[in-house]
Amino acid sequence: TTFTPPPDALPLPEIPDNLTIPQFIFDTAQPTRPARPDSVPWLIEDHSGKRIGLDELRLRTTGLANALSLKWGIREDSVVCLFSPNHVDYPVCVWAAHTLGAIVTPANPSYTAPELLYQLATVKASILLVASESLSTALSAARQAGLSEDRIIVIEPSCGSRFHGRHETLSNLIDFGNEKPLNFIERRLNPGEAKTKIAFYSFSSGTTGTPKAVVIPHYSVITNIIQKAAHYRITDPAFREERHMNPGDVALAVLPFFHIYGLVVVLHYMIFSGCSLVVIPKFNFTEFLESVVKHKITRLFVVPPQIVLMCKHPATKNYDLTHVKLIVSGAAPMSGKLMQSLSKVCPNAVIGQGYGMTETCTTVCQISASQRMGAVGSAGQLVPGITARVVREDGTLCKEGERGELMITGPSIPLGYLNNPKATQETFVDGWVRTGDEVVIKDYEIYIVDRIKELIKVKGNQVSPADLEGHLLLHPAVADCCVVSLLDEYNGEAPMAYVVLREDAKRRLAGNQQAEETLQNVLKKHVADHKIAYKHLTGGVVFVDAIPKNPSGKILRRVLRDEARRKYTVK
Ligand code: AMP
Repeated sequence: TTFTPPPDALPLPEIPDNLTIPQFIFDTAQPTRPARPDSVPWLIEDHSGKRIGLDELRLRTTGLANALSLKWGIREDSVVCLFSPNHVDYPVCVWAAHTLGAIVTPANPSYTAPELLYQLATVKASILLVASESLSTALSAARQAGLSEDRIIVIEPSCGSRFHGRHETLSNLIDFGNEKPLNFIERRLNPGEAKTKIAFYSFSSGTTGTPKAVVIPHYSVITNIIQKAAHYRITDPAFREERHMNPGDVALAVLPFFHIYGLVVVLHYMIFSGCSLVVIPKFNFTEFLESVVKHKITRLFVVPPQIVLMCKHPATKNYDLTHVKLIVSGAAPMSGKLMQSLSKVCPNAVIGQGYGMTETCTTVCQISASQRMGAVGSAGQLVPGITARVVREDGTLCKEGERGELMITGPSIPLGYLNNPKATQETFVDGWVRTGDEVVIKDYEIYIVDRIKELIKVKGNQVSPADLEGHLLLHPAVADCCVVSLLDEYNGEAPMAYVVLREDAKRRLAGNQQAEETLQNVLKKHVADHKIAYKHLTGGVVFVDAIPKNPSGKILRRVLRDEARRKYTVK
């Protein structure tokens, strides 16, 4: 059986295949584009209330592109790393790079230096745009990557100074670029070229192994934007009354732009759909509530831990959230119970989930325009243009209502992993993406019931067990290990390590419980010292005699994970 969107879905409109992302976004005459009232700004800076429109975004994009071209010769296929939290100039950095034909690789600004170094080295980045608070990490990673210091540009908080030691600052550069005659020719694409012209290297560990760069062409992002617009029927005025979104709505950009959900759905799709996007650099719960009320936010894109806070934190009751019209949760599962509690907190909101992954260049399914509320536990309905299969372990196809692995095909599917034909072949199979997620499809609703792949998600962020296992094995006491996750009400999951000790370490412990606890803490610290906070072993460390494997040596991860979840809870 093959699954498609429901019969009342709009067909997928024609997708331009000769435009870069900024050309598509800046072209207000695009036929699929909802009208934007003149008074509606594109972006709003949360703390200052500054409103930014199309002309200013265009000007800043051109200025930065010119400066990048003049000062560093950034051009076709140069790789620009963006190491920053959300900022109103974030899209300017992305689009300036694209205007020159360069590729953007977004990185989490809280990464440690080794984590950033891994990304810089994998994609061979040639310039680094970095938020001032992440500068010291950037300097250390850049040094090791052989990137000279004058290739680091500081993105100042807009209220901050415009001077940053010997580093160029973004605002100064934009002014410089705008003062000089144009040194570049805007990258234009031939018909069909958008399908292969690379826009982003976004990192994901996929079904197995360490993080890999997903090669995302311009066409994938443009397609997913149009798919979402068709899904919400915002391209068809006849459905005006039904849809949850109207141009002129105000959306909150609190999810990070460095993750595919924030980058494609929140940043690009929200701007395209004619709303104003309020940009928040970092999530802090009470400030988040303040912003929602101050800007009269109507569309909220969130992850489950944020919903847990909205439902349980005592501060929520001090805020009137009745103006919120739409809440979409994604990146990790939201339970039906949580959805019901949320509907009490935001009584006028349509609430549902979206589901997607970096390897599908975002949304595969989402609550649809005709639903007043998402079906309980459902991740939504397929968006136009997506076809799905559900596959049993033996490779045969499941029927409706049967449990199996979700496979996806459609026009937004990226090109594969960078320089990794083996992983590409395993995940991108004859035009289908193996999601590694176990699902049931029933009445056009996609229910994500479990994860088959080894990936762990903490607060919606990816944690690669292979990455943590590789790091644990560097410790002299560790002979073998396996990282799985416990369930955690707030974070979703908590990484936990099963560790087999080397004989000498085992002898030294000699059954002494205190010494055992000390070593467990040493191993936790070994991870905490080198990895970003969400990868820490908050589920604990357990010593075992052996890691169970199948006859071919593959770790029996699901067995271990299920056993861990039966025996242990997060302390
Ligand atoms: P990422 O590439 O970081 O977006 O991670 C994609 C993975 O996140 C998916 O393969 C799922 O395992 C998980 N995920 C995303 N959205 C949902 C959802 N609504 N429900 C359950 N899991 C989700």
